[in-house]
Amino acid sequence: MTRSEELHVVIVGAGPAGLCAALYAGRGLLRSVLLERGVPGGELLNTEWIDDYIGFEHILGRELADRMASHAVKFGADIRQDTVEAIVRRDDGIFEVATAMGRVYEAPAVILTAGGTPLKLGVPGELEYAGKGVSYCAVCDGAFFKGETLAVIGGGDAAVEEADYLTRYGRKVYVVHRRDQFRASKILQERLFANPKIEVIWNKRVREFQGGPAGLQSIELEDTLTGEKSSLPATGAFIFIGFRPNTGLVKQHVEHDPNGYLITDDRMMTSIPGLFAAGDVRSQLTRQITTAVGDATTAAIAVEKYITDRKTRLESKAQVGV
Ligand code: NAP
Repeated sequence: MTRSEELHVVIVGAGPAGLCAALYAGRGLLRSVLLERGVPGGELLNTEWIDDYIGFEHILGRELADRMASHAVKFGADIRQDTVEAIVRRDDGIFEVATAMGRVYEAPAVILTAGGTPLKLGVPGELEYAGKGVSYCAVCDGAFFKGETLAVIGGGDAAVEEADYLTRYGRKVYVVHRRDQFRASKILQERLFANPKIEVIWNKRVREFQGGPAGLQSIELEDTLTGEKSSLPATGAFIFIGFRPNTGLVKQHVEHDPNGYLITDDRMMTSIPGLFAAGDVRSQLTRQITTAVGDATTAAIAVEKYITDRKTRLESKAQVGV
C-alpha cells in the first residue's frame, strides 16, 4: 500500500457534485484529490440532452461533463482515475480512503459524491438478457434498437424522460408502470403524453423477461389490481425504477434514511464528523444537477471551516498539554 501526500480533503466521485466540490476546494486553496473510477461526468454521461441546468438552455450531457471537468481543473482539481474501496475514519479523526490501485489517501475530511447505481427489478430473465435487450441506460444503448418495439419500466422522472428520448430510435415505446399515475414531474409527463409513439400501460408489473439466442422477445406482465397475466412483445426493455446510493464505501455506521441515502446537516456533514456528502448520495427531496452542485458548493466551503476549526482545537489542546 502506498500512503498519500498530505491532503485536506479527498473527494470521492467525479459527477457534477464531485467536480464542483473540487472546483471550490481549489478556490479555497485546499489540497485535494478527486478520485473517479471511470470518466468524469457521472450521470451526465447517461443523459443525452440537458435542458434544466440554468444558463444552458440545451446542452449535451457529455459536453456539460467536459465543461465541468475542465473548469474544475482550471481551479486546480487533481482528478485521478482509481476505484475507492473503503473509507474509514481513524480515532485521530483522519480518514483513510483505500483504492483498488493499492493507495491509501489520508485527510481530515472526505466529501462523498459517489452517486448511485440503477435498481434492478429482480425478476427472471433480467440478468440473462442484460445487454441482450435489457438495459439501464437509454443514451448508451438506444441506438442499438432502431425501428424496434421497446418498453420502459418505471414511472419516475428517469422513466418518463428516457421513454421520450427512446422514441427517436424505437418504432413504438411502451411505458409499463405499476400504478395508475406517474411520480415524474408534470412537464416531463406532458411531453410524454404528447408523443404519439408512446403508449402507457398502467397497473402492470413485470413478471419475467423472455427471449432466445437472439435476445429479448417479450415481457411477461401481471396486472397489479386483477392479477391478470399478459405478454408484451418487445425486443428492448429499459428499466428506470430508481437508484441505490453508493454509500457502501463507508465502513462505519453513518445515519441514513430508509432508502439508504445519507442524512446530512445544513453544511452537508453526515453523522461522522469530517465526512460530507453531496449530490445523489444525500437524502433530500430531489436529485438534480443543480441540487448536486449546490450541495457540493456548501460541502467544500464547510470543509474549509471544518479544517480551520479542527486545527484551532488541536492547537489549543496541545497548549493545554504543555
Ligand atoms: P424515482 O423517482 O425513485 O422513480 C422510480 C419509479 O420506478 C417510480 O415510478 C416507482 O413506482 C417505480 N418503481 C420502483 N420500484 C419498482 C419496481 N420494483 N417495479 C416497478 N416499478 C418500480 O427514480 P428515478 O426516476 O430514477 O429518479 C431518481 C431521482 O433522479 C429523482 O429525484 C428524479 O427527480 C431525478 N431525476 C431527474 C430528472 C430530470 O429532472 N430531468 C431525470 C432523471 C432523474 P412508484 O411511483 O409506484 O413508486
